[in-house]
Amino acid sequence: MKIDGKTRTCGLIGNPVEHTLSPVIHNNLAQMSGTNLVYVPFLVQEGGLAEAVKGAYQLNILGMNVTVPYKSDVIPYLKEIDALAENIGAVNTLVRCEGGYKGYNTDMSGLFRAMQTEGIHIKDENVLLLGAGGAARAVAYLCASAGAKKIIVCNRTVEKAQEIVREMKIQMEETDIVALALSDVGTLAEESFLAVQCTSVGLYPNVEDVVLADGEIYDRIHTGVDLIYRPYETQFMKLVKAHGGKTMNGLKMLLYQGIIAYELWNQCDVTEEQAEPLLQKMKEEMGIYE
Ligand code: NAP
Repeated sequence: MKIDGKTRTCGLIGNPVEHTLSPVIHNNLAQMSGTNLVYVPFLVQEGGLAEAVKGAYQLNILGMNVTVPYKSDVIPYLKEIDALAENIGAVNTLVRCEGGYKGYNTDMSGLFRAMQTEGIHIKDENVLLLGAGGAARAVAYLCASAGAKKIIVCNRTVEKAQEIVREMKIQMEETDIVALALSDVGTLAEESFLAVQCTSVGLYPNVEDVVLADGEIYDRIHTGVDLIYRPYETQFMKLVKAHGGKTMNGLKMLLYQGIIAYELWNQCDVTEEQAEPLLQKMKEEMGIYE
């Protein structure tokens, strides 16, 4: 990689950032396409976000990704915000604009594009949404926008699921969406579900944990998407598979949220032929060889 006086810089702000796979996506994309761009992680300490965003602009940084814990906190420091990101209440991509940055949410469009490449569709599905945190809120918007038949938001803390349902009813009033306590999943009447696992249960190092204990519900999950990618196959995915369902982990979501950010920064289109080797490089970085 040649770095010279014209090299543009992009990066990731968050805390922690040490284990990020995003540099693999962006630096390889830049290399593949012959773009003079470098992507680096920036650790931003608590209380330093406003200065980090201002400083990045002054340093002529082209764009940034935003990760935990700043996806919502960054919003007040933006010059502009995309309507979708504003509705979701979370921004993971900053694109340089006149006088500051415009915020976007590419997590959601990234998940959509990832699911499409796997032949997983949302339209007319009963979606069992597990979790009610930041990721689940974004997935609820995705499912509503993509024409889900019904969305059931299941969470340990049912009040948080009810809050998402309340917000969705205001923003997209015709959506059929209900809240349910995780412990009441067995009471559902629908015969078939697309389940999207949006909790942190099962995340490394707690790889044996699963949000839904083994039960009859798995017989009704025809497809289980887990947003987690460490481990590469979660306990949830193993159970869905054991009951005959199809599975997908969160690695492709991570890849496509990055690709969409890269497209926004560079005003370009990344092809599937370019995406495939990137996924392989991410897997290698994780020590996955299959
Ligand atoms: P978050 O806002 O902290 O939400 C965490 C969720 O997990 C809440 O619904 C919480 O339920 C639930 N939960 C935690 N411990 C639980 C337990 N022991 N039993 C039942 N439920 C439990 O996190 P987030 O930002 O939404 O992220 C959620 C997951 O998505 C994380 O694993 C993250 O790595 C993943 N993610 C992946 C990508 C990607 O690119 N692949 C992008 C974003 C997020 P309560 O409300 O009851 O506490």
